[in-house]
Amino acid sequence: MNHRQTEVLIIGGGFAGVAVAQGLAKEGVEVTLVDKKEYFEVTFATLRNVTAPRLHGNTPRKLYRDFLKGTFIQAGVSSMTHHRVELDTGESIEFQQAIIATGSRYPTLPEAKTLTSLTYAARNQEMQNAHQSLTSAASVLIIGGGSVGVELAGEIASAFPDKSITLAHSGDRLLESSPPKAQLKAWEQLIAKGIKVKFNRRFKKQGDAYRCEKTGETLSVDKAYECVGMMPNTEFLQSNLSGVLDTKGLVKVDEMARVQGYDNLYALGDCSTLDSRKHGFLASVQGGFLAKNIAKSIKGKKVKTYKTPPLVMVTPTGTDSGVAQLPFGVTTMKFVIGLKQKDMGITNMYKMYGTTPDLRAE
Ligand SMILES: Cc1cc2nc3c(=O)[nH]c(=O)nc-3n(C[C@H](O)[C@H](O)[C@H](O)COP(=O)(O)OP(=O)(O)OC[C@H]3O[C@@H](n4cnc5c(N)ncnc54)[C@H](O)[C@@H]3O)c2cc1C
Repeated sequence: MNHRQTEVLIIGGGFAGVAVAQGLAKEGVEVTLVDKKEYFEVTFATLRNVTAPRLHGNTPRKLYRDFLKGTFIQAGVSSMTHHRVELDTGESIEFQQAIIATGSRYPTLPEAKTLTSLTYAARNQEMQNAHQSLTSAASVLIIGGGSVGVELAGEIASAFPDKSITLAHSGDRLLESSPPKAQLKAWEQLIAKGIKVKFNRRFKKQGDAYRCEKTGETLSVDKAYECVGMMPNTEFLQSNLSGVLDTKGLVKVDEMARVQGYDNLYALGDCSTLDSRKHGFLASVQGGFLAKNIAKSIKGKKVKTYKTPPLVMVTPTGTDSGVAQLPFGVTTMKFVIGLKQKDMGITNMYKMYGTTPDLRAE
């Protein structure tokens, strides 16, 4: 069995993991990054990839080997102690410090983040298959009125104006964690696209149809997307480090991103309690912050505490509209929404990591 050693191990190459890897490499620290997949993916663009694949091609994705600084190992971490991980390849890695950045998944929505497509080719094919499946459906039900459900409904309406689209939400407002103006504007924009928005509904699959357990209403549709139930990818900590997890399965950290009870472990992004808001942009900022802190502590310098940066969040509701939350308010102004609409943030995210999208994939 192969056994490796590294100074800093990063588990997970999402927004947080890649940002910390690139940041540490810039500081001259040697890192090893482990991910199940062989490619990074800008999730912001995955829904449009399903509805309108020609717009951005495969540019949301890029092989780690083509841009990641440091050593990359494609493998899943199956268990972990405070100084060693076991991989699903049978190998193990010992480390001085480790950064847990394994993010989250949507068990019912592989279009958003894949569950099984670990190669670049397989994910591109998965996206094409998802597009075909959507194309052949005349009626669509989207369950969940959070940002993913709202965005998906709008994207489908833009790409397929003739489809019958229903968005069902268990609460009485869309985008529940957003300011009231954003909730209202998103609803107005979806309604204007002909989407039927049903509040206070909880649809569950029953035979071939979907039945609302609150009202008894039944819907028969050709295609349904369940945009609910985001889960942190932290099961591999259960066997030896279960004490670091909170009741939601998030890794408990202090304001320096240090895992509670361990001074050589850190956790960032969607799998961590560092910030209550779960965004890829924030995960990237956290990665940059931690890279600087680790480099400082190696040099014996004072480290900083994490502070949430001013947040700019654009939720597209189709290719021509959207709602932007800015530090000073909510807007639907075209030039602000257009900043995201241009390429769904693909170029900006790769720029943050010191690279460009893979234009061969257009
Ligand atoms: C459709 C959609 C649209 C979104 N749009 C936006 C947006 O516009 N702006 C925004 O800021 N955020 C957006 N988000 C949220 C954003 O995608 C997440 O907040 C972000 O992915 C979190 O980044 P992360 O690095 O913490 O984890 P992830 O991106 O989830 O990455 C985790 C990585 O860890 C790997 N991994 C998991 N378990 C293991 C293991 N055991 N061993 C090895 N590797 C493992 C995974 O393969 C993955 O590569 C969107 C999300 C979705 C689903």
